[in-house]
This record gives sequence, structure tokens and C-alpha cells, in this order.
Amino acid sequence: MNQNLDELQGDLELEGLDDELWNAWEAPVSDFTPPPKGLYTATILEKRSATVRDEKYLDFECDYMLHREPDGRNNEYDGRKIAFMRFSSQVRDRFDGVRTSSLLDVCKALGSQPPKGAKAVGAFIDAHILKQTKFQFTWDWQGYCAACYEVKLKELTKAPSLDLAKVAATAAQVAAARKFATKAKTMGQFPLVAGKNGDKPTRAGEMECPACKGPIKARGQVKNYLVPVVAETQAKPVMEAYN
Ligand SMILES: [Zn+2]
Repeated sequence: MNQNLDELQGDLELEGLDDELWNAWEAPVSDFTPPPKGLYTATILEKRSATVRDEKYLDFECDYMLHREPDGRNNEYDGRKIAFMRFSSQVRDRFDGVRTSSLLDVCKALGSQPPKGAKAVGAFIDAHILKQTKFQFTWDWQGYCAACYEVKLKELTKAPSLDLAKVAATAAQVAAARKFATKAKTMGQFPLVAGKNGDKPTRAGEMECPACKGPIKARGQVKNYLVPVVAETQAKPVMEAYN
């Protein structure tokens, strides 16, 4: 039933204006294209979550903030937040065969060995956030088609619906569907577009899925965390200048 506001008896509390939404609100980002492939210096801006999984792994979800580089490279991304970076204590074989975890990779880049306990590691990460410890990583784009992932998962599990497929899927089937859904592994696979005001061409932040023809937005991801040997020799002047 609709009612004229002027005729409303008493008042009505509206949804969507509560404190939680108000406090969590962020200004919209005008350009969703991730920073280009390359080497960056960052700090952990904020820890979104720290979760103990299966009583043995510690998973973090953090936002990073990019910083100026002493050589001027990519400095237009100074102060840019990159959200939902995940790292975990779960050990795996890295692409180059090294046994490590993404948490260990992050700690190596931060330059110090963490304690062994889960709570102590949480406090250790918090301390680096407070100190704004700078670290370096290489970054690249990825093109991932969510629609193709769903189709592949249903096909592999032979489940009649996506919900049932998600329940039925084995780890190997999820991995195979993810591999199928990954349509670009690097920025160079995205189309070139003319630069603004006669600048050199740049990569578009969107591509057409070669399989389902749907749109795929580029998303950035950390390729490798770097040990701070480089940070100590190159990034130090920046730390002094901007702290
Ligand atoms: Zn697709």
C-alpha cells in the first residue's frame, strides 16, 4: 500500500540508512581498471579478516595501499587502494616448485619471520600494519569468466543445477573449472585501445570471453612477493621522504 509521506502517522525507520552501512560506505572508484602489470611498493592498509580454517590454516584478507616509487615508475598509482588481497598459511608448491605459503611469501617480503602460533601471527601482521612496513611485489592482470566457470562445473559434476554442482564438486573439478574459466593470465592478453589525447595505446580493462562471448573485467593479482633486498636498496629514500 502506498501512502503520501505528508499523511504518514508518526515516523518510519528506513532501511539502508543504518550506522553499519553509513560507516562502511566508500566513495565510488571512477576507474575500475587495475594498475598495470609491473613492480609495486605497498603497505598493508587494513586487515579485513583473519580466519582459522579447518582448525589448521590461517587465512587473511587485507587491503593494500600502493606507494610512490623512487624512479617515478607507476607513481600515478600512489595512494591507490587494492582490495581483498588474500594470503594463507596453507603450504603449496609454488609455480617454480618452491614449497611455501602465501603467508610465508608476505612475511619474507615484510622482512621478518613470524611467530608460530595463529594468534601471534595475527598480532605480527597487525604490528606491520601499524608500522606501515613497506614491501614489494610484482602484479599482473587476470581475466576470469564466472559464467564459464559455472558451465564447466555443472558439466564436470553432471549436476542439474549450479547449487548442486557446488556441493558435489571435488577439489580437482573445482581446479579444472577454474582453469577453464581463466581466459587471460596476463595484461598483454587484453585488447589494445587508443590512448587519450594522443598518448600511446593502453590495454583495455575488459575483454570478450573467447568461449561464451560475455564480458570479462580485468582483475589484478599479486604474482610474486619479493624479498626486501630490493626494498632496502631502492625504496629507502621514499620511506624517508614520505613518512
Ligand atoms: Zn565465458
